[in-house]
Amino acid sequence: MSKNYRTYNHLINGEWVGSEAVIERISPATGEKVAEFANGTAKEVEMAIDSARQAFDNGIWPKLSGAERSQYLRRWVEKIKENKERLIQIEVEEVGKAIKYARGDIEGSIGLIEYAASLTQTLHGESFSNFGENYTGLTLREPIGVVGLIVPWNFPALIFNQKVPFAIGAGCTVVVKPSEFTSGTALEMSKLAEEAGIPKGVINVVTGYGDPVGSRLVTSEKVDIVSFTGSTRTGKSIIRNSAETIKPVAVELGGKSAVTVFADSNIDDAVDGVVFGINFNQGEVCVSTSRLIIEESIADKFLDKLVSKVKKLKVGNPFNEDTDLGALIHQGHLNKVMEYVNYGKEDGAILLTGGNEIKMENNENTCFIEPTIFDHVQENHRIFQEEIFGPVLSVVRFNGLEDAIAKVNNTIYGLANSVWTSNINNAINMSKAIKSGTVWINTIIDGPPQLPLGGYKSSGFGKEMGQEGMEEFTQIKSINIFTGKRQHFFK
Ligand code: NDP
Repeated sequence: MSKNYRTYNHLINGEWVGSEAVIERISPATGEKVAEFANGTAKEVEMAIDSARQAFDNGIWPKLSGAERSQYLRRWVEKIKENKERLIQIEVEEVGKAIKYARGDIEGSIGLIEYAASLTQTLHGESFSNFGENYTGLTLREPIGVVGLIVPWNFPALIFNQKVPFAIGAGCTVVVKPSEFTSGTALEMSKLAEEAGIPKGVINVVTGYGDPVGSRLVTSEKVDIVSFTGSTRTGKSIIRNSAETIKPVAVELGGKSAVTVFADSNIDDAVDGVVFGINFNQGEVCVSTSRLIIEESIADKFLDKLVSKVKKLKVGNPFNEDTDLGALIHQGHLNKVMEYVNYGKEDGAILLTGGNEIKMENNENTCFIEPTIFDHVQENHRIFQEEIFGPVLSVVRFNGLEDAIAKVNNTIYGLANSVWTSNINNAINMSKAIKSGTVWINTIIDGPPQLPLGGYKSSGFGKEMGQEGMEEFTQIKSINIFTGKRQHFFK
């Protein structure tokens, strides 16, 4: 057991509320027990929904001005800054990710809340003064109400903050269901929000499994919208289940992103980008660029450089500052990633490097994998088409712009894609032709909170971050105002 072993309950209406059963978290990086979370039942979910409902329907929060809500969010940021190191440690222990990424996640979280704090001040409806002398139109942008937020395990703090400050910044109240593997930072940050003065009941957190905690948020008639990040499979079931209560949902789902490298790109920069795009956060990233589409004329030279850089990556103790890849989330997930390594071999792709599990100092409870690259992958191979969610890169070659576009778009997914080129025509033509919510040119897995993130095709719908990310939690009311003399319709 870790010396920092933490025991958590749910956070409901500002109180810590327990459940009969608990869920233990064993760190996939050390094999040690690091935390336990309450295993929520329908009863605690109902309590949390009622708390959020009460805070929205009768509380002060939705009635505050945007400037006032902004002040609360800024005080929350200060609390998070004061507790930054602790939050980073929790993230490393529970997720198993390398500390340099956990640090980036908490810094990124601060940036997201700060941005949401600025948006609350400008969120507004519109007025229409061009309807003639006696007619005025207004649109009011109103908070939608109680929001159910379902957060996955790969970025517990960051994705929490892609949702929560935007929802509460818009004037909503929330019930959050973090992943049962990684609930610590969601609970800690929510407590800090309360310490910053955000009223009780505005942020409630219920830990536990998808069923019943997540599913109850989706089916409850008292929840007005659900925002979910996770697998396409679960996303489909959430969309289906939301129909019963005519509930809007925003779903940020899986991906099979590509990085396309043209022969005219800066090769060393592109190599670095490709290494980052697949190995960042051990490849457990919805926008992980797991397909490399490389121009045939430079493919062999490029792959030599790529393999030699990947072989230098350090896999292991996530608390070491120079670790590049931490542990995968759990053994079941590692097994799934290894199955894909086997599919790659069986289908005839050429393994250039990696492909093996690693156990730390013969500790069977740890879950590491070597960064892996397959060359000569065919477009119908499973490793080219399916989300693996680990550091496994599939390489295909292309000849000419049209071929590159066809290969990038040959997927059911459409979350994000990266292009490396020094030719402005390639950059613009690729940006327009690629069917995904995000395109990066000469950069990868990057972006300020001002730019919205969201999918095309099976990667989902709805936006997070950006102005659109806050508007997601609002609804528009039209006000028609007639100020003239009524011409009677009936004689
Ligand atoms: P899931 O989509 O199953 O889980 C994501 C979250 O949804 C978890 O908190 C989960 O709870 C919850 N959930 C599960 N079932 C329901 C339900 N019926 N109603 C409401 N909420 C539910 O992803 P997994 O964690 O199982 O990971 C599987 C795969 O999903 C990964 O291998 C990866 O490919 C993809 N994934 C994509 C992510 C992304 O960022 N787009 C993030 C994480 C995973 P519980 O954990 O209890 O099941």
